[in-house]
Amino acid sequence: MAHLTFFGGETLLNFPVLQDTIAYARRRAAEEGKEIDFSLTTNATLLRPDIIEFLAENQVGVTISIDGPRELQNRFRVFHNGAGSYDVVAPKIKELLRRHRSRPIGARVTLTSDTLDITRIYRHLTEEMGFWEVGFAPVTTSPQQQYAIGEHGFDRMLDQFRRLAGEFLDHAAVNKHHGFSNVKDTLEEIHKGVSKAYPCGAGLGLLGVSTDGDVALCHRFAGSDAHKLGTVYDGLDRHAQYGFLEQHHVADKTDCRTCWARPLCAGGCYHEAHVRYGETSRPNLHYCEWIRGWTDTCLRIYGELSERNPSFLERFDRDEAKADAVL
Ligand code: SF4
Repeated sequence: MAHLTFFGGETLLNFPVLQDTIAYARRRAAEEGKEIDFSLTTNATLLRPDIIEFLAENQVGVTISIDGPRELQNRFRVFHNGAGSYDVVAPKIKELLRRHRSRPIGARVTLTSDTLDITRIYRHLTEEMGFWEVGFAPVTTSPQQQYAIGEHGFDRMLDQFRRLAGEFLDHAAVNKHHGFSNVKDTLEEIHKGVSKAYPCGAGLGLLGVSTDGDVALCHRFAGSDAHKLGTVYDGLDRHAQYGFLEQHHVADKTDCRTCWARPLCAGGCYHEAHVRYGETSRPNLHYCEWIRGWTDTCLRIYGELSERNPSFLERFDRDEAKADAVL
């Protein structure tokens, strides 16, 4: 199974290219006898009825980048003239959620020091807007930025994550859906016994392609010459890829080698390390406490669920079997 994800910038800036790419990839996948799956992330500002129709008809998975209720969304997600985007995107998102029912639509929230009201954001996006699930990620930026999340911010984040994770546990114990995707994703990794040599798939099974055809580590590095791993014309530069993987193995990250959270963290995001420390190979030591706290919470929830409702966890095996069946 191949996955093609469109990520920006803004993915809907050039809708004809999106349409052509999906048609081309479908044709090539059929020629190769492969299944292919599409998804995109958009800020929803350019959603139109014909685009929504296309996404629904082609079963394109959609994630909306949105930061919460009007006041929080309008803090950072603004147009060039400074106007907030909430009133523009909210009706478009509601229309998308009404029409596109073939796949669950999720929201992705970027957390900053100014927008850490996680519970409120979660309630708004699920209960008031109707998203199926919501995932939160701290902003990637230099520590000098006023909106960067500092130590206290991570503590506050962890408290609220724990509260939502507790709700998730109570729902999962009685087979009810809860949309806090951060906990679901970590439970799945724990269930599958994930032990990472690398923090994510960047440079392994995941690559980012920029508009000029350069292939880089992941979408965040697309367009960066220093992180280029080939082009769509000449293929992957295996030498550069292996060199990267050799330099970034968790066993070579001194601080991580003895850390108990290493199997799930493996040093954290390369892009964050690049922005913070100027090197992709550095572990993200500024958020270790947060990562360990969160991993501990998820391990406890996993343990409790395995007693209260093990069938909830078994669904991760079924999902895997389904994925294997289409390979
Ligand atoms: S929590 Fe810190 S020390 Fe542990 S694996 Fe992650 S970055 Fe490395």
